[in-house]
Amino acid sequence: MKYISTRGHAAGEQFCDILLGGLAPDGGLYLPESYPQVSATELAAWRNLSYPELAFVVLSKFCTDILPEELAPLVSRTYAPQVFINARAGQWIEDITPLTTLGVERNTTLSLLSLSNGPTLAFKDMAMQLLGNLFEFVLKQRGQTLNILGATSGDTGSAAEYAMRGKKGVKVFMLSPKGKMSAFQTAQMYSLQDENIINIAIDGVFDDAQDIVKAVSNDHAFKAAHNIGTVNSINWARVIAQVVYYFKGYFAATKSNDEQVSFAVPSGNFGNVCAGHIARQMGLPIRKLIVATNENNVLDEFFKTGIYRVRTAKDTHHTSSPSMDISKASNFERFIFDLMGRDAAKTRALFKQVEKTGQFDISNTPEFASIEEKYGFVSGRSTHKQRLLAIREVFHDYKEIIDPHTADGVYVAFQYLEKGVPMIVLETAQAAKFNETIMEALGVNAARPDAYIDIEKREQRVIHIASDVNAVKDILSKNI
Ligand SMILES: *Cc1c(COP(=O)(O)O)cnc(C)c1O
Repeated sequence: MKYISTRGHAAGEQFCDILLGGLAPDGGLYLPESYPQVSATELAAWRNLSYPELAFVVLSKFCTDILPEELAPLVSRTYAPQVFINARAGQWIEDITPLTTLGVERNTTLSLLSLSNGPTLAFKDMAMQLLGNLFEFVLKQRGQTLNILGATSGDTGSAAEYAMRGKKGVKVFMLSPKGKMSAFQTAQMYSLQDENIINIAIDGVFDDAQDIVKAVSNDHAFKAAHNIGTVNSINWARVIAQVVYYFKGYFAATKSNDEQVSFAVPSGNFGNVCAGHIARQMGLPIRKLIVATNENNVLDEFFKTGIYRVRTAKDTHHTSSPSMDISKASNFERFIFDLMGRDAAKTRALFKQVEKTGQFDISNTPEFASIEEKYGFVSGRSTHKQRLLAIREVFHDYKEIIDPHTADGVYVAFQYLEKGVPMIVLETAQAAKFNETIMEALGVNAARPDAYIDIEKREQRVIHIASDVNAVKDILSKNI
């Protein structure tokens, strides 16, 4: 399978060629030349596969340059029950992403697909764990090493560190704002003692950390000399890892492949729901893809009006579903490319306009008018109050405590229930990670998984520095 850029670059690259990089050379995002199709026969055969078997058949369609006998064990190691643990029961989870049916709402079943059973208790583990093993594999094959430089406000950084810890050929340098993360998030990252994980706390806020990463990445000579890479949400391997659980959720919620389901997806950078779009393009019978945002409603605004308007840092709200606090949706260009009939010139023009003016407007185009019918996309937004309401409703009606991001998904899902179409809300984090909001909504604590009870007491390993590019470069040079 060959990959192309949403802005036209097409150099015949295959999966392993684009794995370690970020953007395509022309500033676009990579996508396959065409989406692989899943036949009715295949879909029937896939229904009863285990999670790693399903992941193997789905990923095989995209990673045609990895031998099946190499990909299969890699995938099995990634999606092993030992890695995905039911935090409440303390048991390994055989099916990795279990579906919990909450109940019947307006003549249809409402379920949660639980994606947060990995080491950092959030759905980013689903993709990041695969990325860790793929990086190790490709680096070894090519005799290369990679130094990942990132900035985090909490979740992405810890998912990356837990995925890369102990991996050969990879080092992680993760910048975080000192004193700005929760005690739990801080402990989760800084308590890692692995040699190849280097935590750097800077005096400043997340944006300062992000600016340092950008400054180092823009120093092309330094970047090349030190083999510096990233693991951000536009990474193509992360997207396809996420395609797998849409299939899994579909099979778990239906009895036959004649049925359709809808998915509600708590969204920020459009990575998770982009995977749903791809699953639908491959032929999975998805009726609606419901994009749920919080107060940072860049995506809801687009799907409602046809205007894509990115926000400044100043206009980005800090909310109680913080992992969805985004100013622009970095994977969105992938969908726009498809929507524009895969016309790279049109896509490039739209995103050049965003760079210049901060927005584009396609409200008067036939493409925009066709979105719901052709692609199944609809959207909604939730506020702090509505999030709390959803947490209370699910707790009172079904005795489940959901986290604030999942609550945004549930709140918006309620607006799109249709008779006879099962509604699956993607559960993106565990409530224990966001206990302050659970306390506010319910007046009780979310149970913390046993393995994390004493996490704040563990020894921490971190380098403290001022917010300074040269200090970071110095650490990089000394440690690689
Ligand atoms: C990252 C994240 C999201 C948003 O996912 P995107 O792929 O950025 O749309 C939602 N919920 C949680 C808990 C997350 O960590």
